[in-house]
Amino acid sequence: MAGGRQCRLYEFHPQIALAAVLSLRLRIALSATALAVLPAASAVAADPPEWTRPTAPFHIVGNIWYVGSEGLAAYLIKTTAGAILIDATMAENVPAILRNIRSVGVSPRDVRYLLVSHAHFDHAAGDAAMVKATGAKVVAGVGDVAALQSGRPPGETTYTPVNFAPVTVARGVRDGDAVSLGGVTLRAVATPGHTPGCTTWTMRTRGAGRMLDVVFPCSITVAGNRLVGNRRYPAIVSDFRKSFDRLARLHADVVLPAHPEFADVLTRHTRGGERAYVAPGLLQTMVAKARIAFADDLAKQQKR
Ligand SMILES: [Zn+2]
Repeated sequence: MAGGRQCRLYEFHPQIALAAVLSLRLRIALSATALAVLPAASAVAADPPEWTRPTAPFHIVGNIWYVGSEGLAAYLIKTTAGAILIDATMAENVPAILRNIRSVGVSPRDVRYLLVSHAHFDHAAGDAAMVKATGAKVVAGVGDVAALQSGRPPGETTYTPVNFAPVTVARGVRDGDAVSLGGVTLRAVATPGHTPGCTTWTMRTRGAGRMLDVVFPCSITVAGNRLVGNRRYPAIVSDFRKSFDRLARLHADVVLPAHPEFADVLTRHTRGGERAYVAPGLLQTMVAKARIAFADDLAKQQKR
């Protein structure tokens, strides 16, 4: 059965957390009785509606556009030799993302690379369909390659994980590796924990009158990961802590997370264009909140 949601910062969004709990309970209740006779798991799925709600694309800063859904980010980076897409989100979103890509002036066949933040269904389930439509090469953290190629999320969780369509990864990257296209370079910063291959992508772009450091942070929430006794991912706690330290040291003028609400990505452009995205200290604030939530979650799991 499908169940469990991987990537929310529950501590920031209690109303979504409640919906998620109710959703999970509904699925568990149904799984025991009715699920077997339902035509598809989606019939009982209750992901936040904004995850699959289309939204118009918009310019963020420099050569970066937002092409995702209302609740799941997909970022398009234009270069002189084609484009780079960060995350394809869920399979249901792929047609709308393709429309968004076209409407910002890029042919889907010109998307050369699909960079993956991490191997959870809400960010990677659309990868296979996106590759089919674009021919893009998938680039992901080495720690998530097996998960992406099997369609089975990594690690152990407190909920039943959601599988997704497998996709061939053209290149697995490690910390410091770079992807370059048409004069643009994205550098991988390994930030494992949320998944073993969770990858933060960084780049520079010119916007708001100067060069800006842009960071696309991988998720840093516990979000149902087993922190205690995780046999498939025994280093999870130390990895999370190292990633908090690593991210806190990164310089970010612009922060563009996989869940756009954590940096108000969808609303900033209405508040002053490129300048509204320059938010020094935002990444460090996000990390500080995540550290507190992590410590709280770890303490709770250790008591069980
Ligand atoms: Zn996730």
